[in-house]
Amino acid sequence: MTLIVQCPACAEQEDESKVFPLGCSATLLSYAPYYDEQGVAHYHDPNATTSSYRCSKGHVWNVKSYKECPACGWRKADDLVIAPKW
Ligand SMILES: [Zn+2]
Ligand SMILES: [Zn+2]
Repeated sequence: MTLIVQCPACAEQEDESKVFPLGCSATLLSYAPYYDEQGVAHYHDPNATTSSYRCSKGHVWNVKSYKECPACGWRKADDLVIAPKW
């Protein structure tokens, strides 16, 4: 699967732009996997990786993404955070 990253502000205006990553950071909450009735480990990781992007038109935004549980596919929905312009 190809990861598509597009500027949400430009997409809204049906405009096009190039997107440049600004870096990412991760939270470090402690958590432990739990084991279900079949003894299968579930990794419901509350830690988010926040990636920052800037588009060629100057919009800046962050995307928080979460890891998927390998046992059941559970995953917190990604949060899209539009940051104010720098
Ligand atoms: Zn943009
Ligand atoms: Zn799970």
